Amino acid sequence: ERERLSRLKNTPAVTLDGHRIELLANIEQPDDAVAALKAGAVGVGLFRTEFLFMGRDGKLPDEEEQYQAYRRAVDGMQGLPVTIRSVDVGADKPLDRGAGRSADDYLNPALGLRAIRWSLADPAMFLVQLRAVLRAAAHGPINLLIPMLAHASEIRQTLSLIDKAREQLDARAQVYGPVRLGAMIEVPAAALTIPLFLRHFDFLSIGTNDLIQYTLAIDRADEAVAHLYDPVHPAVLHLLASCITQARDAGKGVSVCGEMAGDISMTRLLLGLGLRSFSMHPSQILAVKQQILRSDTGKLATWAQSVLAAEDPAALMAD
Ligand code: PEP
Ligand code: MG
Repeated sequence: ERERLSRLKNTPAVTLDGHRIELLANIEQPDDAVAALKAGAVGVGLFRTEFLFMGRDGKLPDEEEQYQAYRRAVDGMQGLPVTIRSVDVGADKPLDRGAGRSADDYLNPALGLRAIRWSLADPAMFLVQLRAVLRAAAHGPINLLIPMLAHASEIRQTLSLIDKAREQLDARAQVYGPVRLGAMIEVPAAALTIPLFLRHFDFLSIGTNDLIQYTLAIDRADEAVAHLYDPVHPAVLHLLASCITQARDAGKGVSVCGEMAGDISMTRLLLGLGLRSFSMHPSQILAVKQQILRSDTGKLATWAQSVLAAEDPAALMAD
């Protein structure tokens, strides 16, 4: 079976009715680009940069170190786009003590200072990362993705810091490149205000791991409630369908980069909901491609509507 799958590496991911599907890789280190290319990914859909920040006893990577890491990922992908997500520490990805702020310091880390909230709480630190990303963009196509946005004020502050990072690089006469800007949709508040995000961003990436957690009030890491963590809960499906439809209607790119995108039991449903871009662990890419090659999006769209309307969508998933 593995061997059969590996033969799909150079087969384009096209459905039976001729729709080309974008299959992207999630990576955690620059060198993961090798595995991404090997699996036939057409780009990196999520580079989780927090792994450069974790396990260093609180000493954060400086601009040069970050720039080198982002550049290695860009070089590694050989001209294919790399989506670099700004740091998402906190909650299930705590920084070590010593950084001044660690998850243990907070009452409820998943609802506390994580991701963009953490970055905006220390603009000087965020600017270091933004300058490093902009500089790496001189070497290849980069998309800059912002996690956990929920408020218009966070969008405004983020955009203004990106401008400021460019000004700082100009003042140093340092070379940098253009970036496309994306927003993670992973807080229900964001999923319910998609037009705001479409006004300010070039593309959306749906983080289903957190979107499910926050929509259902189920801690994604808590075994005691894991049986209630349901990717096909009608509320989750409703948010997913609505985000995908609105982004597509606006002519903007939308992908899913949570675990759902790499789960072959979800591929047909996501295609039926209109998704055309999936980002996942490199090891899942060929298996998802195999599902895509067997799928007809027209038929799946009709079926997905019945799943969306069902009281118990899970019961229809095998149809
Ligand atoms: C997500 O929330 O679905 C996601 C991709 O981000 P992370 O798992 O890193 O929180
Ligand atoms: Mg997330």
